[in-house]
Amino acid sequence: MGDIYGMILRPDIDAATLVPPAPLVDPFGRAISYIRVSVTDRCDFRCVYCMSEDMNFLPKGDLLTLEELDRLCSAFVAKGTRKIRITGGEPLVRRGIMTLFRSLSRHLGSGALEEVTVTTNGSQLAKHARELADCGVRRINVSMDTLDPDKFRAITRWGDLAKVMEGLDAAQAAGLDIKINAVALKGFNEAEAPEMIRWAHGRGMDLTFIEVMPLGEIDGARVDQYLPLTQLRAQLLDQFTLTDSSYQTGGPARYVTVKETGGRLGFITPLTHNFCEGCNRVRVTCTGTLYMCLGQEDAADLRAPLRASESNEPLFKAMEEAIARKPKGHDFVIDRTTRNPAVGRHMSVTGG
Ligand code: SAM
Ligand code: SF4
Repeated sequence: MGDIYGMILRPDIDAATLVPPAPLVDPFGRAISYIRVSVTDRCDFRCVYCMSEDMNFLPKGDLLTLEELDRLCSAFVAKGTRKIRITGGEPLVRRGIMTLFRSLSRHLGSGALEEVTVTTNGSQLAKHARELADCGVRRINVSMDTLDPDKFRAITRWGDLAKVMEGLDAAQAAGLDIKINAVALKGFNEAEAPEMIRWAHGRGMDLTFIEVMPLGEIDGARVDQYLPLTQLRAQLLDQFTLTDSSYQTGGPARYVTVKETGGRLGFITPLTHNFCEGCNRVRVTCTGTLYMCLGQEDAADLRAPLRASESNEPLFKAMEEAIARKPKGHDFVIDRTTRNPAVGRHMSVTGG
């Protein structure tokens, strides 16, 4: 059984004498207070910018169990993590995933965690929204790049927009705050952006546009997808008055308010405006690999120390060593001369 620091409770040790482990701070003085955990690399969609149509997924035996994921998350909580985002692949397709939300909710109850959130494609949301809310989830991100069912099918290859809409209804009925994430794609959704803003804000949801990142091999060229958000923002000024906002969610989005709708619009700009200096995040995959930066290859295996001992000490040591190597930032490039992705793994491995 673990205590609030995620350490194993032993009858021979007086809990009052346990000193919480030192929080994780990287060499640039950035405290790591936010982890994104990819609970599966599998997905029921095949978004064209995220995956190729034929993907090789990990053998299920390589995955951490839900209990191990809970222990890993709890170890991060013990080391100062205040926010956990559950992502994937599609997190809600992992069998039994609600068990993890349920068990993590104890850290919300104790105040050790500020929030647990989820990023989902929405396909399974109608089924799970109520239980997510019961487990203390207050905000969710739902990815949706278009409001047109045919275009939605084309961009996700396999997705059904009507199902996602049902999921949004269920989430709002359960009282969850929703942020829609849309990847800005050249020639695909730029003309639709004003309609998406009016739609999202009309339903009381935030909307964030994301620049496409060069992660993993896909069928096609990144440069044909890449739409700089500086350009989209300039186009939006024809129809909207955008005012910079100090609103922050702990993630990389910078927000504006839209005067005409009264809603909030976010921009995630890894290419045109690098936000690494304020990075407070690391990512853990479903096999327990810790990536200190979304855009760099360096990683640390946390599965071996997790499985090596019932005590969390080896795990804490591995986490500390890894954070000591957290790089200053990514160096994404998308242009006609840069053929290879910045890193070979897909976004669905590391989690969005
Ligand atoms: N399946 C869930 C979803 O789609 O929301 C969670 C995982 S998905 C990898 C997380 C986010 O990453 C989504 O908003 C998706 O649009 C975004 N994404 C995927 N590949 C991307 C890429 N190459 N560049 C930028 N964003 C990407
Ligand atoms: Fe699946 Fe999300 Fe990647 Fe789309 S973006 S293929 S929904 S993991």
